[in-house]
Amino acid sequence: MKRPFVSAQRLRAIAEEYPTPFHLYDERGIRENARRLYEAFAWNQGFKEYFAIKANPNPVILSILKEEGCGVDCATSTELLLAEALGFKGEEIMFSSNMTPFESFLLAHRLGATINLDDVTDVAFIAKLPSIPKKMCLRYNPGGTFVVSNGIMDTPAEAKFGMTRAQLSEAVRELLHLGVEEFGLHAFLVSNAVTNDYYPALARLLFETVRELHEETGARFTFVNLSGGIGIPYRPDQQPVDITAVSAGVQEAFEEVLIPAGLGNVAIVTELGRYMLAPYGQLIATAIRRKETHKSYIGLDACAADLMRPAMYRAYHHITVAGKEDHPHDHIYDVVGGLCENNDKFAIDRPLPKIELGDLVVIHDTGAHGYSMGYNYNGRLRSAEVLLRMDGTTQLIRRAETVEDYFATMKFPQSARL
Ligand SMILES: *Cc1c(COP(=O)(O)O)cnc(C)c1O
Repeated sequence: MKRPFVSAQRLRAIAEEYPTPFHLYDERGIRENARRLYEAFAWNQGFKEYFAIKANPNPVILSILKEEGCGVDCATSTELLLAEALGFKGEEIMFSSNMTPFESFLLAHRLGATINLDDVTDVAFIAKLPSIPKKMCLRYNPGGTFVVSNGIMDTPAEAKFGMTRAQLSEAVRELLHLGVEEFGLHAFLVSNAVTNDYYPALARLLFETVRELHEETGARFTFVNLSGGIGIPYRPDQQPVDITAVSAGVQEAFEEVLIPAGLGNVAIVTELGRYMLAPYGQLIATAIRRKETHKSYIGLDACAADLMRPAMYRAYHHITVAGKEDHPHDHIYDVVGGLCENNDKFAIDRPLPKIELGDLVVIHDTGAHGYSMGYNYNGRLRSAEVLLRMDGTTQLIRRAETVEDYFATMKFPQSARL
């Protein structure tokens, strides 16, 4: 059973201090999970997690991950500037972008980030940098369908990311010619893979490709970037991924493919987003309206602007009602926000305990791809973010937006009364 990480009583006290809606994060959960990851991959010299900033760009959260030894994975100039502001330096920054403007490569290069090339045509941009990076990464797209296990698969052939196998060879040759000395290989083939088999299968593919590219071109490969994609159990009946088993599967492929090829010094790096944070964030909202028509609706003060995944992907997010976790779930509700959009529904036909107006509703697993996907549709203002610290106290780590924030980029006519 999925439970909130704070008691109902504590949550009510927190909601007295910070008006709902807000995202609440669990520092202890974040740190313990990061430590488990590092422990699991301790067999690999040079293992490093580059947290995917897009999943949660909050500076306090990023600093916590930095303290736990993580770097960051950026995709845009703004994310690079955020990383720089937080003191991430050089090799602590991975730059995995696509359709990249030259200025972003320039910035990444100035910061000493490891640039991960998405396309063979990027090589011409690298050639124009003030100096040639010593170390570069290449993003592979094997095409076809990538099948992991019991129904878990994705179709790289339909993905805009990465280079074909032939383009990898071409890019490596051109980069060697430019003077690049060290290479890494990256691929992101399945998103939210809730299975212990994804990373091992991906690792084997990348290891074999590294071996081939090394034999073919003589290029020195020093790392393999398994990227993100490890999933979390959004549904209460799902089992979480066992990171120790995942790592053991990667190690097996490493020993079978890389070590016999004399490539035992390759470092494993990851760019996990969801796995690092999703379970350690919850969107806290208040039930403000009830409506009975052809269905029973509970209206929250939060909406898809605070958490877009259900509207965008029809994603399941577990919902509990504070203090009613163990009540019979004998009511069927659509739990919705107030956007003028019929997809603004956190849950459809969800069995829940009877909800009274004023109840605190906890939407689970919002720590990654939650706040960060927020938007201002309908003039909805983005919520606050609150950290539940190790010592049980809370800290406001982002204030809620105000109308002034919303108006700030608008050019009003002289006659406007503000
Ligand atoms: C989104 C993304 C990630 C993180 O993905 P998760 O599913 O959150 O693990 C990592 N690397 C790249 C290049 C991405 O685009």
